[in-house]
Amino acid sequence: MLPTHALSGMVLGLAVSAVAPEFGPVAIAAGLFGGVFPDLDMYAGHRKTLHFPVYYSLSTGVALVLASLVPNAATVAAALFLLAAAVHSVADAFGGGLELRPWEGTSDRAVYNHYHGRWITPRRLVGYDGSPGDLLLSGALAVPLVLTLDGPFQWVVVVSVAVAGTYTAVRRHLPDVADVLVGDLLVSVVPEALRTHVPDRYLEHGR
Ligand SMILES: [Zn+2]
Repeated sequence: MLPTHALSGMVLGLAVSAVAPEFGPVAIAAGLFGGVFPDLDMYAGHRKTLHFPVYYSLSTGVALVLASLVPNAATVAAALFLLAAAVHSVADAFGGGLELRPWEGTSDRAVYNHYHGRWITPRRLVGYDGSPGDLLLSGALAVPLVLTLDGPFQWVVVVSVAVAGTYTAVRRHLPDVADVLVGDLLVSVVPEALRTHVPDRYLEHGR
């Protein structure tokens, strides 16, 4: 889920700040942004449009070499952004599929591999987005962050964990809510323009 990706990006930045404290803030901010960025495709081709498990990984290699040869705020930020986006895209393969109820394990689509032109099948190592295992992962990633960060970054961590806990608590009820919306309200009442703001996976049953 998104908070887990945000926190994992920040942990990558934190690792940089341990070896090069002068680049700590920029690395953590870039890691956070890179961790979140792929999921901006939530409403348009989720886990395909902005998810590039292969291309982010390849460009991360180039960016890391560049940042180590010419270390400055721009190269470090670029490297951490790409690294966090790569980790996000690869990590999605270890979660559940894209179906409405990912705990049922019926989808064979986890994340799109643009390089090979096909979907990577879900490995379900952390169950699905918003599973107890996912929440546990969020909590584990948050520990080193809350212990070392302060100011706005610490607030980002606290809010992420709160969102993760809330999302996990309601996750299994979301499809039922979506069914009601799609079946009774969305299709008949809500204009087409607004419907585009509902992620595709929730519209499966309304089509
Ligand atoms: Zn994702």
